[in-house]
Amino acid sequence: MMAPDPIRLSLRMYDLLIHNAWMVTVNAQGDVIPDGMIGIHGDVIAHIGPTPPDAPLPAARETIDAGQGIVLPGLVNAHTHLPMTVFRGMADDLPLQAWLTDHIFPAEATHITPDTVHWGTLLGCAEMLLAGITTCCDGYFLEDAVALAVAMTGMRAVLGQGVIDFPAPGVPDPAENVQTAAAFVRQWKHRSPLITPSIFCHSPYTCSDKTLAHAKAAAADEGVLFQIHVAETREEITADGGRPPNGSLTARLAQLGLLDADTLLVHGVWFSPTDIERVAQNGCGIAHCPESNMKLAAGIAPVPAFLQAGIPVGIGSDGCASNNNQDLLREMDMAAKLHKVAGGGPTAMPAPQVLAMATRDGARAIGLGDHTGTIEKGKQADLVILDSTHPAMCPIYNPVSQAVYAGSGDVVRDTIVAGRVRVRNRTLVDSPIDGIMKQVRAIGRAIGKPPIHRPIADTEKGSCS
Ligand SMILES: [Zn+2]
Repeated sequence: MMAPDPIRLSLRMYDLLIHNAWMVTVNAQGDVIPDGMIGIHGDVIAHIGPTPPDAPLPAARETIDAGQGIVLPGLVNAHTHLPMTVFRGMADDLPLQAWLTDHIFPAEATHITPDTVHWGTLLGCAEMLLAGITTCCDGYFLEDAVALAVAMTGMRAVLGQGVIDFPAPGVPDPAENVQTAAAFVRQWKHRSPLITPSIFCHSPYTCSDKTLAHAKAAAADEGVLFQIHVAETREEITADGGRPPNGSLTARLAQLGLLDADTLLVHGVWFSPTDIERVAQNGCGIAHCPESNMKLAAGIAPVPAFLQAGIPVGIGSDGCASNNNQDLLREMDMAAKLHKVAGGGPTAMPAPQVLAMATRDGARAIGLGDHTGTIEKGKQADLVILDSTHPAMCPIYNPVSQAVYAGSGDVVRDTIVAGRVRVRNRTLVDSPIDGIMKQVRAIGRAIGKPPIHRPIADTEKGSCS
């Protein structure tokens, strides 16, 4: 337990003070402070500790009474495709290939433009901020339009321009896919303290070895995160099984130089023990997307084995076309229960471990571990306050259990990113949500129901799942 230091606290007025809460730090010791207080200077946490019992609260420009609620580090959505909010609920309960080729690919080829990307991203950020997500890791096409929209919302994000060996929105000539991604990185590298550019290769089955190696080299040259979907479905492994060396997908990626601490592997559902050992040895992070994997019946990723191997594992919602929400509190509950019933038993994936995945470990997996993911002095002030007046938050014996097993985006009261309140009393502070939803409804009407069973040419492929 950290001791209060009221004399030092009084020396400088805080910009923001949060008190009267269970402070769940998610630090290395798993400290939970029952009646805690956080002082913020600018965008940084300057103090975390118990509220001094017999002293007035320190001076602050703004003081938030958390009402005996729960304060968590801002949640980190380790994998999403923000613009795909415009496809939410468009096609469900279908086999993966029918879902992709009959619905998603045609809709993307026809309807993904800078305008739809803009409004879809604003909606996705609004949904996430209202659900307590302060940071996301995105990969899509027309990522410059994504970045401009994210910057408007004040969210923190790692944003990857998509690379695929087919014509894609914004990249009609696939020969220019890597240079387009590298140009995006250079454009956004120093443009906003909240936005970190990245390169996102869609998958080993939609990118050639040459493209994969070229894209990873470009990411390494710029010192940014390289993201890629890997081993999402059994078919992907089967199709890749004949490739050298050793018939292993991760061996192929290792040979191409893709596996290191600056690479985020998304899914890994079909990783073998050998794959897991290779991924751990090379220091890669993994984004686990349980609800997306369940909905598309992709399978169950061996997450307990990932964790045992010491791999940093984050939790991702995946895109709204395959989930269909971006609610990490619900995703945590699903992750914890899925791996218990999948064979780990009731002690597998305990609540503190799952919360760490959705915060500290997810931040580490996407390369932001030094900045966010815990409530510690010197870290960015990315915080979420859960509402103690919501029936699902009553009573509170263990705030970590409460967040993971009883929580959902509905219990989020306030969301703070880099010391700025972005959601106050369940309402977005800066974004005109009604106007955003009006625009996205209009996009939805324009999309309508895409034609079914239309033959899809290779030139139209370019989706994410
Ligand atoms: Zn995805």
